[in-house]
Amino acid sequence: MIMNGKIGLIMGLANKFSIAYGIAESLKQMGAKLLFTSQTEYFKNKISDIAKSFGDHDVILCDVSKDGDIEKAFDCIVSTIGKIDFIVHSIAFSDKDELIGKYYNTTRANFLHAMNISCYSFTETCKHARSILKENGSLVTLTYYGSEKVVPNYNVMALAKAALETSVRYLAEDLGEFGIRVNAISAGPIKTLAASGVSEFSKILSYDRQRSPLRRNVTQQEIGDACTFLLSDMSSGITGEIIHVDCGSNIIGVKFDDV
Ligand code: NAD
Repeated sequence: MIMNGKIGLIMGLANKFSIAYGIAESLKQMGAKLLFTSQTEYFKNKISDIAKSFGDHDVILCDVSKDGDIEKAFDCIVSTIGKIDFIVHSIAFSDKDELIGKYYNTTRANFLHAMNISCYSFTETCKHARSILKENGSLVTLTYYGSEKVVPNYNVMALAKAALETSVRYLAEDLGEFGIRVNAISAGPIKTLAASGVSEFSKILSYDRQRSPLRRNVTQQEIGDACTFLLSDMSSGITGEIIHVDCGSNIIGVKFDDV
């Protein structure tokens, strides 16, 4: 029960298939209480029952693309329950019409929107972290291997993830003097609402399964457990890291079965 007595915020739960759900389950198993934000009223209504089972707090609306929404959500939490121990940022977005075909067809509007929601929102979250987190607080965001190597159709999301990963290092330096840690999990592919927007995602899943040294895809629970570790005091010496939780598939360059 390494999270006993801790309470934290999960940003990005859409449904039971979300990576955020696996993280919430693991945190709960380890004794944490949880709060949730939601992008829209629609999602808020959908996740309210799930959220209640993790700590009985109301879901707070927070559209990270709107100026002031993150700060407002944090103020609401601090004024109602006080400072918290950790934050999970499990949020990304691109127009799905641009997660197919050639990357160079990305529009300026979607490039900026994807960067704003998938990368800048984590910077803004960290900017306000000191107002909501206790000393020794911890933040984790989610990234993907497409930032390192070309993955078909991942396109603009890959650039947003590369920027997100670099921002994790700068944010870790910015917040380190306050004892706050910032890390990312580079998760293997999981079938979720967001992932279904990437064209031919089932092929990515199957290729990952074949490449992985463990010969399978990672599970929600495994990502959740790694995240719990990064949010717990067990990882107190770790910050600014991108930890791969993908059954090892990122370490494989070529497999002869591929050719
Ligand atoms: P998901 O669809 O369950 O979660 C994405 C969440 O982002 C949703 O809850 C959605 O409401 C939220 N979101 C989008 N725009 C928002 C906005 N403007 N304001 C607030 N919230 C907003 O999908 P997921 O796969 O669980 O995605 C969670 C994170 O994991 C993302 O960062 C994703 O890129 C990352 N990731 C996913 C995979 C995968 O294969 N599924 C792999 C590696 C990393």
